[in-house]
Amino acid sequence: METFRPRRASAAVDVDGVLVGGGHPIVVQSMTNTDTADADATALQVARLANAGSELVRITVNTEAAAAAVPEIVRKVHGLGVAVPIVGDFHYNGHKLLAEYPETARALAKYRINPGNVGPGRHHDDHFSTIVRIAIDNGKPVRIGVNWGSLDQAVLAELMDANARLAEPRDSREVMIEAMVESAIRSAELAESTGLAHDRIILSAKVSGVRDLVEVYRRLAARGDYALHLGLTEAGMGMKGTVASTAGLSLLLAEGIGDTIRVSITPQPGGDRTEEVAVAQQVLQSLGIRSFLPQVSSCPGCGRTTSTYFQELASDIQTYLRDQMPVWREGHPGVEELRVAVMGCVVNGPGESKHADIGISLPGTFEDPVAPVFVDGALDRTLRGDHIADEFKALLDGYVERRFPRAGAATWRNS
Ligand code: SF4
Repeated sequence: METFRPRRASAAVDVDGVLVGGGHPIVVQSMTNTDTADADATALQVARLANAGSELVRITVNTEAAAAAVPEIVRKVHGLGVAVPIVGDFHYNGHKLLAEYPETARALAKYRINPGNVGPGRHHDDHFSTIVRIAIDNGKPVRIGVNWGSLDQAVLAELMDANARLAEPRDSREVMIEAMVESAIRSAELAESTGLAHDRIILSAKVSGVRDLVEVYRRLAARGDYALHLGLTEAGMGMKGTVASTAGLSLLLAEGIGDTIRVSITPQPGGDRTEEVAVAQQVLQSLGIRSFLPQVSSCPGCGRTTSTYFQELASDIQTYLRDQMPVWREGHPGVEELRVAVMGCVVNGPGESKHADIGISLPGTFEDPVAPVFVDGALDRTLRGDHIADEFKALLDGYVERRFPRAGAATWRNS
């Protein structure tokens, strides 16, 4: 399925078998928040993120202990039966850590370099080029990841000075956006002049404001065909982070911009890190770009649904579908396209249910205590009594068996 505008043409970057850009499916990625030096905890979280659907997982490599742990993390992740490429995130000391820990340089699938903090003054280009040469020697791609919180001050100062000399200087936001794009493009050019192939480079330029993000990426997209990693940085917690990320990513994806995405929401204390993967997947699925999970349409409820039964059933079905997916995904190819409706009453229930593959319309207040089930747009049967939820789940199982048959099984007939 296509985005609202055709995908922007970009170079395809092979990250240990996961193709980013070049028209390949938009890749979902995530980042751990464990101490990388704790190989057990980090490997476990990498595996959890991968099992939740993250196709690349990034870990910070910030200290000697972290760098030393990386090969063990990769072995442990593989030992858990997970083959996800692991990306190293470097700041300040990447040139040293990668040089001093060659096994780590080999074990990582990609290196992220932040050009804003590879080193000051004359050290900047040396340190940057050192990382790039190690990437070349090990056959690794790099992401040049600009972040406005650590923007290259030399580039910003140069553009500020040039701006000050204009007859009509632009505002500081405008200069900051231009500096981010310049930092990314100049760094990519430096990497290529050091010998890194064009199709071994991914660019990102993250800010925390949605309007700024859209502006930065539009300009970045116009400056070449580098594969682009999208993400709103420091998006925030809970609903604010989710909505802001969704808004920023959706605007760009709808313009065909973006080859891989990460949602940077702050988890609640003790919260589930895989939430960022679920949000990223839901953004892509809501836009009709990729499918990951069967989708449940449910109405918001209103004065016609005065008991909580309807909300409970909608939540129950959503959880059931998510829990079944690891099994269904293996045995029933295409099941992620399934559309289910759980509706609160007769007003929109039958209509919405008919638009779904399988849907149920519950009785609203004062309606007869019956729940019609629609399959492929036609009334299939009517459920009643105390076991509607279990009976509907059994119907879902049967529908999945018939509509998404196992390889070699009889093909679906509309019965
Ligand atoms: S379908 Fe019925 S219960 Fe749901 S919002 Fe509409 S009127 Fe209310």
